[in-house]
Amino acid sequence: MAERRGSGLQILPHGFKSRSDLHNYPMKTLALDIGATKIAIALVDSNNQISERIQVPSNTAEPIWPALKAALKGFRAEQIGIASAGPIDRISGTISPVNIAQWRQFPIVAEINSIFPGAAIGLLGDCTAVALAESRIGAGINVSNMLGVVVSTGIGGGLVIGGKAFHGETGNAALFGHHSIGFNSDVLCDCGRTGCLETFARGPKMVEYAKRLGWNAGEDFIALAQSAREGDQNAIEAIDKGTLALAVGITNVLNIVDLHTVVIGGGVSFSGPIYWDPFLKHFKEERAHAGFLDEVNVYPAKLHADAGLIGAALFAQEAAG
Ligand SMILES: [Zn+2]
Repeated sequence: MAERRGSGLQILPHGFKSRSDLHNYPMKTLALDIGATKIAIALVDSNNQISERIQVPSNTAEPIWPALKAALKGFRAEQIGIASAGPIDRISGTISPVNIAQWRQFPIVAEINSIFPGAAIGLLGDCTAVALAESRIGAGINVSNMLGVVVSTGIGGGLVIGGKAFHGETGNAALFGHHSIGFNSDVLCDCGRTGCLETFARGPKMVEYAKRLGWNAGEDFIALAQSAREGDQNAIEAIDKGTLALAVGITNVLNIVDLHTVVIGGGVSFSGPIYWDPFLKHFKEERAHAGFLDEVNVYPAKLHADAGLIGAALFAQEAAG
């Protein structure tokens, strides 16, 4: 079904008899969030409500694209937002997520376009998507300039500048975990550099450090945080070191971009005061060295697991609008 309007042919979504119907119904955007363990897929309406959420595993030796293509077959979409773990290349529409080895320069935009010909497709970094979502409907609402930080098994960052997602030239702006805070460090990062923020502050590195100190009450950050709450001095020291590293890293970025709002999310950050108290103490000390950072506010993220999907949809909607 179609109607002519101006010089362009407007295709109405299935079930709509006229364009006036569209004003009474929230348009839906297909959103994908491509991560190291799974690819989340959902429809997101213009009120940021998520429906028909499914996921496809990405930590598999099986070819991912055929499974993803099959999963997408049931969807209809005119606009599509793709948030992906990096590195990505927005210019060529390809992605090379560090932890998805079978995808190197994978042409995700062209492949998605082959399933949904004519759809408007927006590709952005997953942490940029998280930052955009938090700035619109999350902890950074009504803020024009914001740094979003994700602390989990890795460390990611995203920037919103002037109310818009800031991508950089290729889509990898704010590659936060891989700025070095210790070039004399003897710790080599997976990326090949030494002293990257990730080598100190990501969850598994805090666990590794605690184990070197003698802590042996678990294998992950959830267990480490619980031991710290129970007063284990090695666990407390490991979290203290990790949060100091994060405070140094965030201060470094703020010294460059001069923002007043930071939103921190990711699994590690949801541990409560056992993580936030030492972080805020270190951050207060670190930022004091730059007088212009006194007004900085740091907030916990609000959107949790759906932030990437919502950010991808917001980006696609705004790019199309
Ligand atoms: Zn690195």
